[in-house]
Parts: sequence; structure tokens; C-alpha cells
Amino acid sequence: MRDFRAELEKRREQGLYRWRRQVETPQQPDMVVDGRPVLSFCSNDYLGLANDPDAIAAARDALPETGLGGGASHLICGHHSAHHRLEETLARFTGRESALFFSTGYMANMGVISALAGRGDTIFSDRLNHASLIDGCILSRATVKRYPHCDMTALEEQLATTDGHKLVVTDGVFSMDGDVAPLPEMAALCRKHDALLVVDDAHGFGCVGPEGRGSVAHFGLGSEDVPIVIGTLGKAFGTSGAFVAGSAMMVDYLVQKARTYIYTTAMPPAVALASCTSVRLVKQADDRREHLARLINRFRREAQALGYTLMPSDTPIQPILLGDAWSALALSKALEGRGIWVTAIRPPTVPEGESRLRVTFSASHTEAHLDKLLTALGEAQQELPGHAA
Ligand SMILES: *Cc1c(COP(=O)(O)O)cnc(C)c1O
Repeated sequence: MRDFRAELEKRREQGLYRWRRQVETPQQPDMVVDGRPVLSFCSNDYLGLANDPDAIAAARDALPETGLGGGASHLICGHHSAHHRLEETLARFTGRESALFFSTGYMANMGVISALAGRGDTIFSDRLNHASLIDGCILSRATVKRYPHCDMTALEEQLATTDGHKLVVTDGVFSMDGDVAPLPEMAALCRKHDALLVVDDAHGFGCVGPEGRGSVAHFGLGSEDVPIVIGTLGKAFGTSGAFVAGSAMMVDYLVQKARTYIYTTAMPPAVALASCTSVRLVKQADDRREHLARLINRFRREAQALGYTLMPSDTPIQPILLGDAWSALALSKALEGRGIWVTAIRPPTVPEGESRLRVTFSASHTEAHLDKLLTALGEAQQELPGHAA
């Protein structure tokens, strides 16, 4: 038998051991964690909708009519009119003919990729794609070619030298870096080399593009350029679940083929109705997005002035690059001592030598919250000379 205990021990020795904290409040800047108050800068609740009174009221008001449980999978008897209404709402929001609602983004990616490519096909995948896209590629049994992050020359070279059915998959906004994929170039390459482009915009929806319609809309692209777009509802939308949007034919195909759609219980319908409210709130959230942009600009300016290394991002994902896992843990701990919560992100979530603190901003952060973060970062720098700069 494998020595599982020794593997755990090795993780600890390498600074790669992971543990969980217990949150005792809703997702919001001021949280209570393991019994202590902290100011959080690590949630993906970018617009502050996870605890929104209107979305909560939508779920609560729906419960007496929908009941609680999903009951069965969508193809047995679980497909509630609430789910269907959400799909229609999401199709309109993304400007697509149709949308299909999944229980999580992880499952959407596994299901969509394994349905659209199989043995003998080739999938081209950005090196920094989210784990769920990578696992979808593995599940599909297709040949996988990974290209260096956003390297369009490398992608073109790979596309040009590959025959057969080709799928290109990418994050829209990269989850651990915060930068945006060069979608116009990707769409042009896919057209030229007859490849199907799939964009997972988990971190783009709500944050970028007009009315928060995501990175595809941000570039002014449409369904001819990016035929399939995936979004999650657990981040900026503040609820739960995910969706795939595309042509009616494509959605019909996925209903037949996507195993993570077919073989799982439908999400509680009341949550789907809360998501309908969230979509409306996201569209109306220009003021929140403007406030976010101001926080992000100020953070970038002042954190860099303190000597921290940031990454080329203008989204709410603002990682501080540290390098080795111990430095990331040390800075995280120094901030925690000052009541600030930012989790260290270490391999294998990011490449070796690129451990970081993934600072994320929410529209519910105030300028005063940002003051506290910057002050703590300044003090931590004194405490950890050589580490943080
Ligand atoms: C979070 C995330 C997912 C997974 O979505 P869940 O709904 O949390 O399962 C998929 N793709 C990307 C890029 C993500 O960041």
C-alpha cells in the first residue's frame, strides 16, 4: 500500500500543505474566521452579490413554491421551470440562442469538453487554464497540446500542423493571474484552421464587458467568433451553478452527450431563481464596476510603490508574486497577524516558483478597507525584508 502519511508529511515539509478555515459569516469583507474577525481579500464575490438582499429574497420567496431539493436529474424529472427560466435569462444575457445550466463550473467544463472532443481529436489548451478545463481534457481521451500562456505564435504553429477535429479551450480571464486571453486573435486562428473555440469566462462575467457581459463582449466578439462560452454563477453572480451558452443545436447536442449534465441531480430550483435576480443585478451594476476599477487602480499604484511585484492584470484578481511557497505563506501569515485574510496560492495550482498571494477585490470593499490592506502590506514588508520585495 502507498504510504499516504509520508506524502502528507512531505507536503508539510515543502510548504505545500493545505488546510481549511471555518467561516462563520456570509461572504463579505468583514468576516469571522475560526472565531476571529478578519478583513477578507480572497473571495471571488467580485460584485458583492453573494449576500445581496434582493437575491436572498428571491430564493426565500421561491422556496414555498419550488420546495427544497432538486429531486432527480434534468432528464428524469428534475428540470424545473425555474431552471428553464434561468437558461433563457442567460441566453439573452450572453446574446446566444440557447444556454444550458450545470450544477457547477467544474462539471460544466468536464462535461462540455468531453462531449465535444474524443479519442483521435486534438485539444489545444493554454498552459495556465483552470484545473477543471485540464481535467475535462483528460476525461475526453483526446490528444492534448498545451501551448505557452497566451502565446498565439505557438498556438498557430500547433494548429497548422494538426489534422482532424480541433478544439481550442481557454480561460477568458485567467483565474490565478487576472489577465485576459487574446480572444480576437484566437478567434481568427480558430476560423483559419477550422477549430472550435471554447471560452471559460468564470472570472469575466460580471466584471468585464458592457453590463458585465464578459470578455467575449468586452472585445466586441459574438457567437460567430466564440461559438461556445462557459460561465459560472458562484463568482460575480454570487449564487451557485454554471452555464454553457451557444447555438440551440449545440445545447441540444450537450443535453444528449454531456455526462456531467445527464448523470447528476438538478440544483435546488430556488437557487436558480436567485440567479435570475443576480443576472439582473449584474447588468445594473455599472456603479459597482466603476468603484471596483477605482479600488484596483489605487491598489496597483500603491502596492507597486511599496515594492511589491504585481502581475499584468486590470481585473479584480490582483496577485502579488512572491516566488517560493514559503515566502507566500510568510506574507499571508504576516497579513493575518494584522487581521487581513489573503490565502497563499502555491503549486500545483500555479507553476513551481510562482507562488503568490491572490488578492481579490469586491465592490463591497471600501476605500477604508483598502487603506487597511495597504497599511498591513507596508508593515509586513518591514517585518519580512527580502521576502516581499
Ligand atoms: C472557479 C472556476 C471554475 C469552476 O467553477 P465552480 O462553479 O466553482 O465549480 C471553472 N473555471 C474557472 C476558470 C474557474 O475559475
